[in-house]
Amino acid sequence: ARTPVTVTVTGGAGQIAYGLLFRIASGAMLGPDTPVRLRLLEIPAAVGALEGVAMELEDGAFPLLSSIDISDDPWVGFDGANIAVLVGARPRTTGMERSDLLAANGPIFTDQGAAINASAAEDVKVLVVGNPANTNAFIAMSNAPDVPAARFTALTRLDHNRAIAQLAAKTGAPAAAIARVSIWGNHSATQYPDITHATIAGRPAPMVVGDPEWVRAQFIPTVQQRGTAIIAARGASSAASAASAAIDHIRDWVLGTPAGDWVSMAVPSDGSYGVPEGLISSFPVTCADGEYTVVPGLAIDEFSRERIDLSVAELRSERDAVIDLGFA
Ligand code: NDP
Repeated sequence: ARTPVTVTVTGGAGQIAYGLLFRIASGAMLGPDTPVRLRLLEIPAAVGALEGVAMELEDGAFPLLSSIDISDDPWVGFDGANIAVLVGARPRTTGMERSDLLAANGPIFTDQGAAINASAAEDVKVLVVGNPANTNAFIAMSNAPDVPAARFTALTRLDHNRAIAQLAAKTGAPAAAIARVSIWGNHSATQYPDITHATIAGRPAPMVVGDPEWVRAQFIPTVQQRGTAIIAARGASSAASAASAAIDHIRDWVLGTPAGDWVSMAVPSDGSYGVPEGLISSFPVTCADGEYTVVPGLAIDEFSRERIDLSVAELRSERDAVIDLGFA
């Protein structure tokens, strides 16, 4: 049997984790031949609930689940982590400004970055889901100087999948026929879902859609506001789809993207496409052999340029705010 992979998940008693953990245990994230050792982290107040989740995981009798450990100490929880999925974050409550949210999350991601630096496995890959995800990832990365910066990523795969879903609904094509959608920038309402390079059954998506006004007035805002629409419909935020996207993100990073397609991941910029180096911004990427590569050489039209710059400006201001607060 293969050696188990250690997967640490924070916010283990939360809604997203409730969808995520069972799929990790079933092999959906790392494949049907890879046993997993789960290490779950929570804040002290939620450890009781986390024990309940661990009991349910045991009751799944998953053949691939070799152990479950729970803790409220990041220095314990990240020990030996090969994969770290950072879901837990301080939620935005009414009346909270973005700056308050950054201030509330700073200490969490400062500690977790330091703990990852000290105790995770040498090959650790980090995915931040908890919002503001890009900037939380930036804080963790900044506090883990011995871990290659490229290992810190944030989730924009749900936005990517939502963009595919909207194109499928508009054109009647199945999701599987849609390729090369891109999400650029921040995982926030300023994100830019881009179909310029997308294809539908091999044909250029803008041509198949044939309606540039729909792209601007419907498609882009629908993808940007989809989270809000789900809260309105469901009375609770999207949790299963976020969990599913986190599975997709890690699976593709570890096992590779399909030939001819790409995915979106927020990763530390290498300066590509005019995004300042080191900002954790979403890009189209391909993955192979456990590494991602930003898709090079895409033509960026004027409209795309403006949209990318707008979202990147928001990321810069978040970065400047957390630097001022001393978290990075
Ligand atoms: P969820 O599990 O629903 O969400 C967790 C985080 O994911 C939130 O920051 C949320 O952002 C974010 N998120 C990112 N993308 C999405 C998306 N598409 N849809 C919805 N959420 C998204 O929150 P719960 O409150 O149920 O659970 C959080 C858990 O984390 C709690 O149990 C809490 O105790 C724990 N926690 C753990 C910490 C730790 O392990 N050290 C630290 C802090 C909290 P948004 O708020 O914008 O919806």
